Amino acid sequence: MLFDFTEEQKMFRREVRRFTEKELAPGAKERGKSYSYPRELIKLMAAAGLTSVAIPEEHGGQGGDWVAAGIAVEELAREDTTAILFTIFPSMAYDFFRNSPFSQRMMAEWLPSLINGEKWCCFTVTEADAGSDVANIKTKATREGEFYVINGEKTCISVSSNDEAVGMLLAKTLNGMTWFWVPFDSPGVTKNPIQHAGLKSWAPATLFLDGVRIPKEYCLVEEGQGHGTFLKATCLARACLGLMALGPAQACLEQAMAYAQERKTFGRPLASYQGISLKIAEHATLIEAARLLCYRTLALTDAGQLPVKEAAMCKWWAPIVGFETIHDCILIHGHVGYSEELGLEQKLRDVMGLEFADGTAQIMKLLVARDLMGKDVVSY
Ligand SMILES: Cc1cc2nc3c(=O)[nH]c(=O)nc-3n(C[C@H](O)[C@H](O)[C@H](O)COP(=O)(O)OP(=O)(O)OC[C@H]3O[C@@H](n4cnc5c(N)ncnc54)[C@H](O)[C@@H]3O)c2cc1C
Repeated sequence: MLFDFTEEQKMFRREVRRFTEKELAPGAKERGKSYSYPRELIKLMAAAGLTSVAIPEEHGGQGGDWVAAGIAVEELAREDTTAILFTIFPSMAYDFFRNSPFSQRMMAEWLPSLINGEKWCCFTVTEADAGSDVANIKTKATREGEFYVINGEKTCISVSSNDEAVGMLLAKTLNGMTWFWVPFDSPGVTKNPIQHAGLKSWAPATLFLDGVRIPKEYCLVEEGQGHGTFLKATCLARACLGLMALGPAQACLEQAMAYAQERKTFGRPLASYQGISLKIAEHATLIEAARLLCYRTLALTDAGQLPVKEAAMCKWWAPIVGFETIHDCILIHGHVGYSEELGLEQKLRDVMGLEFADGTAQIMKLLVARDLMGKDVVSY
């Protein structure tokens, strides 16, 4: 068991780091205040292959695995936490299409525009009365001849207020829960944008779906059978969200280490005080451990397993490691760290959002406990 990246993976990391520093670092602070993401940057990511890392070459992607996608996520997030959705969602949509009953049509109709950054997809699950309690969703999809008709309301859906948005939407059908592909520019969809404390350019919205008609082929699974594909997607998403929290934390830690060696108080560099240097050592250790957990989860998923427990561990722990690291890095910088100038406070707000996205720490810990001790022992 070798705990290191291959030469190819290290080279890929260096390439993404170069892209991130050249294309994403400039203007990241300004973008962090905006409720839209520049289209030209998404096109640049697409041209660099970063919107299709884990899509096979024969379908127009880069032919990488999810460990490679994780490397891209971690590196992009160092400078721009919001960029990563455009990186991982097309590969997740590919997975849904691959397993869907109308695989060929979905791939032909939608993959090219997802890969080239013209369409942006998003998970569309949460409702006003169903966040943690997903089973309580009320949105309904009803088959009418060649169409499904969808009625309901979704909220807090990242990316969805953009014109380019298409949802992988969970709705109730006669046989249970079913995933659908729903373009949000369809007649019957109205949107109410939401202002979040961070991750602003994800531009979330509440969506009202009133008799939205989609072709029957946009049903992504056999009716009521969506659980397997969803489990895989959540394993991947939770490990990637972990790396998304750790990338900015690592960048902030490096910034704090440089500052601590340069800034003097009482005639000595901050780094020479154990109150500072031990904090840095602790955060470096926690980041390294959480990072290993995230990559292991991705590697297990690449190997065909469904590491639900490990993914839940990544999702509850890594955002907390990221948040606490960035918090201490702000403190190490003194008042300068608290100003908007350095962009550390923005990273703090962004990473805090990851504590909710795709399930909170409490719910993730319940999943871990259920896996360890059984569903009968640990109920929700
Ligand atoms: C930045 C961001 C991006 C998001 N993006 C998306 C998206 O793209 N698509 C989407 O569908 N959703 C998205 N969400 C919504 C997210 O999935 C929900 O916020 C999350 O699942 C929690 O649901 P809730 O907010 O309704 O909280 P609730 O379910 O109302 O929970 C409230 C609090 O109670 C706790 N709690 C609930 N039940 C229990 C229990 N049994 N035991 C202990 N504690 C409990 C929770 O942990 C939480 O702290 C996003 C959220 C954020 C903040």
